[in-house]
Amino acid sequence: MVTTRKKVVIIGGGITGLAAAFRLKYLSVGKSLDISIVEAAPRLGGVIETVFSEDCLLECGPDSMLSTKPAGVRLMKELGMENQIIETCAENRRAFIAAHDCLLPMPEGFRLIAPESVAALAASPCLSVVGKLRAVCEPFVPRHAAMSNGELPDDFDESLSSFVRRRLGEETLERLAQPLFSGIYTADPENLSMRATMPQFLEYEAEFGSVVKGLREKGKAATGRQNGKAESVRYSMFVAPERGMGSLVNALEKGLKGVSIHVGKSVATLSFHSSDNQWRIESADGSVWQSDAIVMCLPAKAAAKLLSDAAPEAAQHLCQISYASSAVINFIVERENVLHPLDGFGFVVPALLKRNLLAGSFSSVKFRGRAPSHLVILRAFVGGALFPQMMELSDSEMCQRAFADLSFYLSIRSPARGRPFKEALVSRWYDSMPQYAVGHRKLVKNIEHEVSKLTGAFICGSAYEGVGIPDCIANAESTARSVFDSLFPI
Ligand SMILES: Cc1cc2nc3c(=O)[nH]c(=O)nc-3n(C[C@H](O)[C@H](O)[C@H](O)COP(=O)(O)OP(=O)(O)OC[C@H]3O[C@@H](n4cnc5c(N)ncnc54)[C@H](O)[C@@H]3O)c2cc1C
Repeated sequence: MVTTRKKVVIIGGGITGLAAAFRLKYLSVGKSLDISIVEAAPRLGGVIETVFSEDCLLECGPDSMLSTKPAGVRLMKELGMENQIIETCAENRRAFIAAHDCLLPMPEGFRLIAPESVAALAASPCLSVVGKLRAVCEPFVPRHAAMSNGELPDDFDESLSSFVRRRLGEETLERLAQPLFSGIYTADPENLSMRATMPQFLEYEAEFGSVVKGLREKGKAATGRQNGKAESVRYSMFVAPERGMGSLVNALEKGLKGVSIHVGKSVATLSFHSSDNQWRIESADGSVWQSDAIVMCLPAKAAAKLLSDAAPEAAQHLCQISYASSAVINFIVERENVLHPLDGFGFVVPALLKRNLLAGSFSSVKFRGRAPSHLVILRAFVGGALFPQMMELSDSEMCQRAFADLSFYLSIRSPARGRPFKEALVSRWYDSMPQYAVGHRKLVKNIEHEVSKLTGAFICGSAYEGVGIPDCIANAESTARSVFDSLFPI
């Protein structure tokens, strides 16, 4: 009996595409399946990139992942990287928040948008007396009318701003929740969906009538603590490969022996031929692939473009997911020139201060062994949905403005001659951060529904079920399972 070999083409070689290929390869052991990855850029990894310079490890994109979402750590273990998983440095596990003229410690136990304890918030200098009084009333603020029966309706959604304003007041939104959330989603809080990003806070409100009560009850078991104190950010839950996020990409590439990898090939058209149930995939330079299945691991905009003929309705929905651009600048600085003790992992900057930075991170403090002791790596984040104009600056102007803010908050001395930093590496990530707007979950359901009407077409990536690396890996793995089941039905 002759068995025909099946073919699948994965479009996009970021972490989602690589994880999908790896899982598919693993699932199809003993089956006749050819797997190809087609990636537009000259390298794999998408927004993940690690660079070495001046004996420093520089992360150009993500620098860590949450270990509480198991898919990332599990994949690293499968790749034989178990001994390379490191936690953030056990000391100084705290973050700061920028005020007009200094950095203030984040209130103890403040969980992204709400405090675990109103007493800790009341003791913090981050809010005015009026702001604190409003925030401590949170347990007495009635539930949203839609949750009055103690249940969260399936179709309920609202923006981050609306939620925090309602529960904790404008000041908590502007001075704490907005900058903390911006650090993750580089988003405009007026549009960001609570349901798609932080559904647990809505659930706390529905179940307990208060997010503070909900955090206390539900968060007890999972609370990160240092010296008996609740950490402001649960840094104990962030891990990274010792040699940087790029080593995860390298390990995946090594683990993909037998998979055909084509880099520098931007897919330009996709068409389905019902005569032989085959997809035809053509790149801008004229290379052509044929396959039984395609997996689009792309930014939503790129997927929309490719599906505009085969699935115009899916393309229309995909276009509704907007993106923000941002840049990361790694500065290598002489430690002795930084007068701030760097006794934390970094700081976030409220948009209301109208500075150049979204956030600054003390990379070589957060993870040990990333820089020689006489140097320090400071990462600056700029741009995002609220400050898109920063992306129009030249590299040198962007560096100059970002470093001015770092110098201001960290009291960095300028040498009498020459640059105040040894090196600056600018990494620009255009249209790389999907914005989960209010109604995102419904939009994703519509996209999935339209794509499911196509034979052998699958879609996954950061645009749909979560932007974090473990979310992308989990989404890739479940999609790989669906691809396998469709190609090899029992
Ligand atoms: C600056 C930054 C910092 C971040 N920090 C963290 C962090 O610390 N921790 C964390 O968990 N998450 C972080 N994230 C989020 C996380 O890194 C991303 O959500 C995730 O890596 C996205 O992976 P992906 O494969 O879905 O998409 P991408 O990495 O965007 O990959 C998509 C790939 O598709 C390719 N492509 C596009 N069009 C085509 C085409 N037509 N043909 C072929 N290929 C194409 C692109 O070149 C790209 O390689 C960060 C994101 C950014 C931007």
